[in-house]
Amino acid sequence: MLYLSTRGHADRKHFCEILLEGLAPDGGLYLPESYPQLGDTDLTRLRQVWQQQGYAALAFEILSLYIDDIPAADLKALCDKTYTAAVYGTEAIVPLKPLQAKGSAAPELYLEALSNGPTLAFKDMAMQLLGNLFEYELGRRGEELNILGATSGDTGSAAEYAMRGKKGVRVFMTSPHGRMSPFQQAQMFSLLDQNIHNIAIEGVFDDCQDIVKAVSNDLDFKRKYKIGTVNSINWARLLAQVVYYFAGYFQATTANSQQVSFTVPSGNFGNVCAGHVARMMGLPVAQLVVATNENDVLDEFFRTGIYRVRGTADTHETSSPSMDISKASNFERFVFDLLGRDGALTKSLFGDALNTQGRFDLSGDARFADASARYGFVSGKSTHANRLVTIRQVFEQYGVMIDTHTADGVKVARENLQAGVPMLVLETALPIKFAGTIVEALGREPERPAKFEGIEALPKRVKVMPADAEGIKRYIAEHCH
Ligand SMILES: *Cc1c(COP(=O)(O)O)cnc(C)c1O
Repeated sequence: MLYLSTRGHADRKHFCEILLEGLAPDGGLYLPESYPQLGDTDLTRLRQVWQQQGYAALAFEILSLYIDDIPAADLKALCDKTYTAAVYGTEAIVPLKPLQAKGSAAPELYLEALSNGPTLAFKDMAMQLLGNLFEYELGRRGEELNILGATSGDTGSAAEYAMRGKKGVRVFMTSPHGRMSPFQQAQMFSLLDQNIHNIAIEGVFDDCQDIVKAVSNDLDFKRKYKIGTVNSINWARLLAQVVYYFAGYFQATTANSQQVSFTVPSGNFGNVCAGHVARMMGLPVAQLVVATNENDVLDEFFRTGIYRVRGTADTHETSSPSMDISKASNFERFVFDLLGRDGALTKSLFGDALNTQGRFDLSGDARFADASARYGFVSGKSTHANRLVTIRQVFEQYGVMIDTHTADGVKVARENLQAGVPMLVLETALPIKFAGTIVEALGREPERPAKFEGIEALPKRVKVMPADAEGIKRYIAEHCH
């Protein structure tokens, strides 16, 4: 399998070449040249793999379709090492939880639990594999990588828990000083591994992002210190996420003639884009429901055909903060497919129109209708008030506590239920990560998994620094050996 850029660059690359890269040379995102097609026989075989051998074996089967430059035995070992019951707390890794009232014939919907990994958010599902892939590939090449990132919560901690103790990798993670929840701070800052560096910046999240940009734009420094990233546009992360759409489907159905729909709490469009890939491969998915919060860039597009990125001033800080985005960095992948894989057109939209006008408009393009008719996309949005009501209702009706992002998903899923089609809402985090809003909704603290008992009291390792890129460069240079 070879990979191409959404902006039409002529290069074709193998998986391991793009693994450690971010954007394609022309600024586009990487996608496979084509999506492997799975027919009825293939689905039946994968269903058996899932039933008889479990998640890691299913992951190996799906990854093998896209990776031809890692020997099969090595890839199998990497999957087995990543997806273990010891790490995820269940044999199923991503179990379905039916939301079903006593006495009713069928569940209203299912939650697919993606947040039982080390940091209690779905990003672990991909990041844990990425950590093992990075260590493997860097070892093979005899190279090192210094990951520089900016986080306001979930991404940074998922990256650190994936890379801790990995040979050849260091993580320098900036976060806004004092602005993450106490639980999130404790989660990250209590990591004492030598290769993990927490840097609390005296500023806001945008300052952290600006620093990462400034350091990455210093090409000499970037080359000399082998600076890399793990952001959500990485194809390997997206590919890892494709697996749980299959695992969810096999749990909710007994035959390949049945369809299911997925609702995905969305920000950067990485999670639901993996659903799109699974559907393109032939997974029987009726609808992909995109749920946004008050930052409704994606909902606006699917309703109107207008994609309009937001400025800092009109990006809202919400109670589902991991979906607070001003633009959706993976969205270009879907638009490329929607427009018949026209690289020149995709480039004119994402490379030119967005830069000059901050928007593009596909409402007049006949292919916009395909987004729902052909690709199954629908959307909706949720607000803080909706979130509180949904958390309360799901708790009262089913005795299940859900987090704020999952609540946005349940709210929008309920507006899109279809008779006879099971709806799977992806549970993207556990409530303990956003305890403040849970208390606001339910008047009580969320449960805390035993392994996180008392983490706020653990010793912390964090360096507080001013918002200054030169200072960060010096810090990296001093800690790179
Ligand atoms: C990152 C994140 C999301 C958004 O996922 P995207 O892939 O950016 O669309 C939703 N919920 C939680 C809890 C997250 O951490």
